[in-house]
Amino acid sequence: MTRISILDKDRCQPKKCDYLCINYCPGVRMDEDTIIIDEDTKKPLISEELCEGCGICTNRCPFDAITIINLPEAVGEPIHRFGQNQFELFGLPTLEEGTVLGLLGQNGIGKSTIMNILSGNLIPNFGDFENKPENWDEVIEFYKGSSLQKYFRDLSEGNIKTILKPQMVDQLPKVVKGKVKDLLTNVNERDKLDYVTQELQLENVLERKMENLSGGELQRVAIAATVLREGDFYYFDEPTSWLDVSQRLNAVKVIRSLADEGKSVLVIEHDLATLDALSDNINILYGQPGGYGVVSGRKGVRLGINAYINGFLNEENVRIRKNPIEFTIRPPTPEDEGDVLASYSDLKKEYDGFRLSADAGEIFYDEIITAFGSNGIGKTTFAKMLAGVEEPTNGEIDEEVTIAYKPQYIVSNFEGTVSDFLYMNAPSFGSKIFDSEIMKPLTLDEMLDKPVNGLSGGELQRLAIAATLSKDAEIYLFDEPTAFLDVEQRLIAARVIRKMVESRNAASLIVDHDIVFIDYISDRAMVFNGTPGLNGHASKPTDLRNAMNEFLGNLNITFRRDKETKRPRVNKLDSYKDREQKEKGEYYYL
Ligand code: ADP
Ligand code: SF4
Ligand code: SF4
Repeated sequence: MTRISILDKDRCQPKKCDYLCINYCPGVRMDEDTIIIDEDTKKPLISEELCEGCGICTNRCPFDAITIINLPEAVGEPIHRFGQNQFELFGLPTLEEGTVLGLLGQNGIGKSTIMNILSGNLIPNFGDFENKPENWDEVIEFYKGSSLQKYFRDLSEGNIKTILKPQMVDQLPKVVKGKVKDLLTNVNERDKLDYVTQELQLENVLERKMENLSGGELQRVAIAATVLREGDFYYFDEPTSWLDVSQRLNAVKVIRSLADEGKSVLVIEHDLATLDALSDNINILYGQPGGYGVVSGRKGVRLGINAYINGFLNEENVRIRKNPIEFTIRPPTPEDEGDVLASYSDLKKEYDGFRLSADAGEIFYDEIITAFGSNGIGKTTFAKMLAGVEEPTNGEIDEEVTIAYKPQYIVSNFEGTVSDFLYMNAPSFGSKIFDSEIMKPLTLDEMLDKPVNGLSGGELQRLAIAATLSKDAEIYLFDEPTAFLDVEQRLIAARVIRKMVESRNAASLIVDHDIVFIDYISDRAMVFNGTPGLNGHASKPTDLRNAMNEFLGNLNITFRRDKETKRPRVNKLDSYKDREQKEKGEYYYL
């Protein structure tokens, strides 16, 4: 069995612990160099040759900075290691012309490393981190006889052009200035400007400046700019954050059009329904986030996602999760079930240029209601009326409720660490409940000492969810809590929200566009229709089946359930299932 040791440099604080790990290591006590001090960083370096794997250093370290990992058999040869006691990647996916390949796995498991290698930004060292490779020769030699050999040869000779859509599109205005139309015209190398503008509904933003776009608009502009350029290999890092359901499916269409033209496409995506519709095949990444990642064999998209949901990879004989993710087909909820937390009459709100109407409804204690609808259609306005922050123009809220709110876009310009942030923004920070029910499951303890402005999208999201749940409120409103979270984190967030809502005798209203997440978390749902930015209408909260039928009926999209896992899958437009379900008026359940 091979063993690796990982040191989390952010957590390790030798000044505060006086090198407990070194002092207690049995190897060091026998005068061996099992752990030495790195002269440059003053942090410990663990020798994987000498370490016996006793685990004493792991237990002694007050900051949980060391992990000793016994690698499972059959991980194959290492492809890249960033350094001693740092992350190691095993395996690479193979790209195929004319297909979309999806990468599915937790954050921190190596997906971006793979993207960096395949796009030529990182020459892999095959685990030999002491000798930085200077060219691609060894890589080409390593992959002799496989299609990756040709790929890397062409890449190193400059015969392959790779095009990337980055994950954090909100950073784009810092590097790309000016009008959207000018940007897209400049990169219109494939003469598809009209096509992408129409499919991604960008007509209204063409004249706008990059710095004035919302996250969802930036996402669509970034996808457009990627698709417009001429290349051989296209990489999309999380193309759906901040897009609503129909925008996601439009993005699927546009990205797939590249494959239809013979290009190779690689996508990282955590929205399983989108990944399913987008990819031909997937590779699952498993291992330990921050420690090591292994690329599974290539799997057909349906069986691959099912294996991920079941938590077991047959071919590799690897369990990646203790339990399967379970989707339950709920019977319709009776109208009057539960005690009423809040009720309201028909409501109207008029702003200059925007009108919202809502049908009278009730919200029950302990329930999670999801709200679907496009961006800019009044979901936040509705919640503000419930909270009494905005007065309805017509209608009444029986009793105003207190609301804790997580906005869609999270700002990261806080000066200070995560601890400082929580201290100032999370009222129950420091309590036992916060510690066990919020901080631990959302693994915030791993980032307490990090500066907030250096957090990744997923870290920021978890921090914002935690701060919202730490408040004492009657309704917890989350606007797109899944953005930048991986599948596991989405499930954990769902469980944490459910538990806190029930223990506080509250309710939650969640706006999200990940259908698999919505299916997993909803007790009931409400639908917002209308024209974004002009007018909106909110249905009363109702059961998921009714709400989905209304919502998907308007979008002309049908979902079926996977026979094996019961997860929702989008039907191809005009396929047999699509037509059959539309005839029956069952847009969701069949
Ligand atoms: P969502 O939460 O669904 O994205 P919002 O409720 O935030 O939508 O916004 C719906 C529309 O109402 C938008 O066009 C927005 O510009 C407009 N709007 C929201 N708040 C105000 C306000 N205070 N004054 C004027 N217009 C507003
Ligand atoms: Fe101290 Fe832990 Fe760092 Fe060792 S790993 S020096 S025990 S903080
Ligand atoms: Fe030393 Fe044991 Fe830690 Fe290995 S696991 S470095 S032998 S204390």
